[in-house]
Amino acid sequence: MLVKKIVTIFKNFPKRHSVAILFGLLMLVSISILGNFDLSDRKKGADLTKKIKIDVLKEGDQFEPIYTSKETVIKRNDSLFTILTKFGVRNENIIELINSKNSNLLSNIEVGDKIRVNLDENNEIKDLLYIDDFQSGVRAGKFEGIYVINKFKNKLEKVKVFKHIIIQDSMYVSGIKEGIPDSVLMDVVYINGWDIDFTHDIRPGDSYSIIYEEILVDGEKVLDGDVLITEFNNKGKKITSIRFDLANGKSEYFSVNGINVKKAFLRSPVKLSYISSKYNLRRKHPVLHTIRSHNGVDYAANKGSPVRATGDGTVSFAEYNGGCGNEIKIKHSEDYTTRYCHLDKYNSRIKVGKKVKQGQTIGYVGSTGLATGPHLHYEFHVNGKHTDPLRVKFPNATPIKSSEKIKFTQVAYGLTSQLNNYKDISLRKEVPGG
Ligand SMILES: [Zn+2]
Repeated sequence: MLVKKIVTIFKNFPKRHSVAILFGLLMLVSISILGNFDLSDRKKGADLTKKIKIDVLKEGDQFEPIYTSKETVIKRNDSLFTILTKFGVRNENIIELINSKNSNLLSNIEVGDKIRVNLDENNEIKDLLYIDDFQSGVRAGKFEGIYVINKFKNKLEKVKVFKHIIIQDSMYVSGIKEGIPDSVLMDVVYINGWDIDFTHDIRPGDSYSIIYEEILVDGEKVLDGDVLITEFNNKGKKITSIRFDLANGKSEYFSVNGINVKKAFLRSPVKLSYISSKYNLRRKHPVLHTIRSHNGVDYAANKGSPVRATGDGTVSFAEYNGGCGNEIKIKHSEDYTTRYCHLDKYNSRIKVGKKVKQGQTIGYVGSTGLATGPHLHYEFHVNGKHTDPLRVKFPNATPIKSSEKIKFTQVAYGLTSQLNNYKDISLRKEVPGG
């Protein structure tokens, strides 16, 4: 019974603590036994307790961890041998490990993976952990004088995280301030990149709510998972995107009505991460073009930032052209053309007549032609006429297949209800006394 209890206690302690505690307990047990012999004809109780405290608990040195833990990330040209030698392990001990059964599991160590060892006071390996990724690896431990080596796999746990953000400066900065990881924010930007131009569309008071997953091992976060749902309140309009696992194994995002968020055109030809921070953070309105009457949208970004084609098409123009400077025009269909000005350089593969894909880098931001500083001037033409790229309705958004509609509706209903519940709770907390 007692042993069982002690074992249970150990499970909840980090290993080196357990060792120290075990050592302490053994001392306690032996001292109380010895104490019983010594004090057999004296009164038990208070005296004995006092004695234990003085003799055992005061000798702090004995409670120092007995094992030293060392850890490294595997670099190029590292081998198990060089790493262990660096840790101070003697050659004989390394050879003993390498000659143990299953040591071949440790023969293919890969750059970027982790090795952690616990060494005893003689620098002998007590146990070794090779962590392949957060999920699996190889463990070697010495039991009864023999190294036992085997593979292990950690159990993953997924938790849902909810965030509600009222945009104060930019979508990105407000999100970071609320503790949303960078990779999650980039996913949110990507998912909404066909609906929202994050440089020009965001207004003070806009907000967004998201649910994303975190992946845990032993209760510790090891990875940010997928974004399950995003809901933007942008200029009074609500845009909801829901992740759905399709029957073909792919996952895509759809509106509540089952329309794929992907459209024929991206809202922005410059990725949010490249937009000059001073504009991105401070400006809520488009940078005004001062040179001449304005027919497009400007994106202030550092010189050299990639410019992407907003839709599939064919390059119809790529040369210097007066005030526009280095210019690219892409013809997307009989009706749609986009125009990109002031480029510093063209992507080397861009030539008139070449086909380009949506999102492909066609050139780099510069200030050629009539430009006061590095920025991209972007135009959207429908049937040869200038159209506001921020307001144009994009064609072609494929809806979910009718065979998957019922399942999607269930997923969409589940996620939107969860989001609304979370929102209710968090908004209630924000209202004092409410
Ligand atoms: Zn402009």
